[in-house]
Amino acid sequence: MSLDFKDSFLITGGYGFIGSSLSRMLLKQGNTVCNIDKLTYSSNLNSLEDYDKSKNYSFYKEDVCDEKKISKIILNHRPSKIIHLAAETHVDRSIDDPSVFVKSNIIGTYNLLNLSYKYWNELDSDEKKHFRFLIVSTDEVYGSLKVNESSSDENSLYRPNSPYSASKAASDHLGRAWFKTYNMPVIITNTTNNYGPWQFPEKLIPLTILKCINNQKIPIYGNGEQIRDWIYVDDHSEGILSAINNGVAGEKYNISSVNELKNLDLVNNICSILDNLRPLKNGSYNQLINFVDDRPGHDQRYALNNDKIKALGWIPKTKWSKGLEFTIKWYLKNQDFLTSYSGERLGRS
Ligand code: NAD
Repeated sequence: MSLDFKDSFLITGGYGFIGSSLSRMLLKQGNTVCNIDKLTYSSNLNSLEDYDKSKNYSFYKEDVCDEKKISKIILNHRPSKIIHLAAETHVDRSIDDPSVFVKSNIIGTYNLLNLSYKYWNELDSDEKKHFRFLIVSTDEVYGSLKVNESSSDENSLYRPNSPYSASKAASDHLGRAWFKTYNMPVIITNTTNNYGPWQFPEKLIPLTILKCINNQKIPIYGNGEQIRDWIYVDDHSEGILSAINNGVAGEKYNISSVNELKNLDLVNNICSILDNLRPLKNGSYNQLINFVDDRPGHDQRYALNNDKIKALGWIPKTKWSKGLEFTIKWYLKNQDFLTSYSGERLGRS
């Protein structure tokens, strides 16, 4: 779909890791962005500080589950595109306390779909055709793959294994139903593990860097043989924009770089880059690696086939070695961001 005017975007979770990458990209391109974010522990206000005073940017500290407040924001801002990223995102936290995952990730998506449908229904026919509602989701909804199995594509069955992935699967199903039942133009994207700047340091990559800087043990669940498919966060944001601008309403698109790595290899990659950038007096950072008991339901492998999103003209631009080195340098430069986290969680990928 070619754009003859600048879109007005409503983003949820814009102060999170991926939402801030997407919002920076959209604002840089001259779009209008309205950001709704509850500001949970994983958000960071500094991630959009360059745009705080921009006339194209507005922010509301609200919960996506709040019907009245969210309705008012949608009606005031009249977005042409809604991109829903707000969610609870850490699998270990979902095991400890699933309730907030059910609220934010299921009720939150329901509330946004329901209010957006009422708004969309009242638009004139051109605006209606142009409008899109995109849900950002995860590869974890497809469940765990065996090492030799083909990667998941858009037709793979949903087999979520954790409270987090089950809540995201439910959110995807609601999006599908709003398209099938009400014909609302919903698109769903499922992505793999993202990496890059501004990720809350309880996740594997920033946590490993934090542990190295502090000269502390780097915890690795089980034997470290679990496989994840890693994508640079700005490549993912470009994929989301490709899907919302060029994708077909009602379709799903998997966004991945086809870059599978064992957790142990990933941690060793980080250690050797740090060995060059910030050498220890004696030996390598990899001597800090410490295997700990695995957590329940730890999926063995996620991997996504990206043929369908590539057919829209999108390609991932960032090579793993370059992206990882850039990311590590960013965290080294922004050590306050890392060290503000106590590191009590283990950094599950
Ligand atoms: P994040 O945890 O860094 O950020 C989530 C943001 O959502 C935070 O700013 C938080 O304050 C906000 N939020 C949470 N609950 C909210 C609520 N009820 N109302 C309003 N705001 C709320 O997460 P992320 O890594 O940026 O992930 C963004 C989206 O991408 C999520 O939907 C996640 O499931 C999905 N995803 C992430 C990854 C990844 O590797 N990070 C991979 C696949 C899918």
